[in-house]
Amino acid sequence: MQPIQEVLPLLQTPRKIFITTHHKPDGDAVGSILALHHYLTAKGHKVTPVVTSEIPDFLMWLDGADDVLNFETQAEQVEKCLANAELIFCLDFNHFSRTKFLEAQLNASTQPKVLIDHHLFPADVWNYGVSNTAKSSTCEMVYDFINQCGDNHLINKSIAECIYTGTMTDTGSFRFPVTTPAVHLMVADLLGKGLNHSKVHEEVYDSWSEKRMQFLGYVLLEKMEIFPQYKAGLISLSRKDLKLFDVTTGDLEGLVNYPTSIANIRFATMITERADEMKLSFRSKGDFDVNDFARKYFNGGGHFNASGGRSTSSFIDTVTYFKQILSDIHPR
Ligand code: 5GP
Ligand code: MN
Repeated sequence: MQPIQEVLPLLQTPRKIFITTHHKPDGDAVGSILALHHYLTAKGHKVTPVVTSEIPDFLMWLDGADDVLNFETQAEQVEKCLANAELIFCLDFNHFSRTKFLEAQLNASTQPKVLIDHHLFPADVWNYGVSNTAKSSTCEMVYDFINQCGDNHLINKSIAECIYTGTMTDTGSFRFPVTTPAVHLMVADLLGKGLNHSKVHEEVYDSWSEKRMQFLGYVLLEKMEIFPQYKAGLISLSRKDLKLFDVTTGDLEGLVNYPTSIANIRFATMITERADEMKLSFRSKGDFDVNDFARKYFNGGGHFNASGGRSTSSFIDTVTYFKQILSDIHPR
């Protein structure tokens, strides 16, 4: 992969650009593709932002969210745009399989591909790009990219809101260790460009339905198990649990973090039964490497303190297997 600066000559003339991100997009995924979309559009390019599953409701207020194509419902349009694109930007993921439905098309595509990402161990499939695990978020990296292009003056309120949203959600509201001085300097700059940070926090965190709040109560009371001997907590949610409160994927955002708010709990896991597989989310505080854990046991990956994985076993078997691993490895 050549450094991202090497792609700049290709951007000197207007291009058709395809931008995508990982399946089940989160704040950083949606924030980064929209920020880059607005920036490249301002530079005169024809940009198509694409997701492979629905954008959660708490992000739909972001400028441009309505323009994003969803492969699940607009496959034909997406395939046409991909075929016509001259350049493909991949944001916030490190392996084509993370897009789920676009993996085969991205593998088959011959256009130059550009990576902007902060996950560990990117696949060797991109022509240009930047992969930096020390960065708080892909949104911060899009900010860096715009600055590298000498275009800080093009960052307007919309772009600032997108960048702030992804950085805020990926850093747990600026509390995780990846929140460097550079992040705070960036936020200061974004505030100067019209960002209303209180509005973003309200849109993202204070937009719950009553049902979702009740669901949280149910989960914490009935579905969370704490294993003090392993400094670990587990939330396991079957499809039946999700149906009880009409829960959508967006409603599960942040749930995995709750066990780590208990004193001495340093490793949290959430197992969710999806239609086709079991989804696992891992979070840790301190020096327990959940990227390694997800890779080793659940065919996944991510970051040192936040990762995900999957299992094709049944829900019950996955929960049992997880508990078996816990007692085998004794995380501390
Ligand atoms: P989440 O639990 O929120 O789905 O994922 C936590 C972090 O790990 C996110 O940064 C996400 O992109 C990443 N992640 C989740 N699942 C996988 C996976 O299967 N492979 C890799 N490489 N990263 C993952
Ligand atoms: Mn991210």
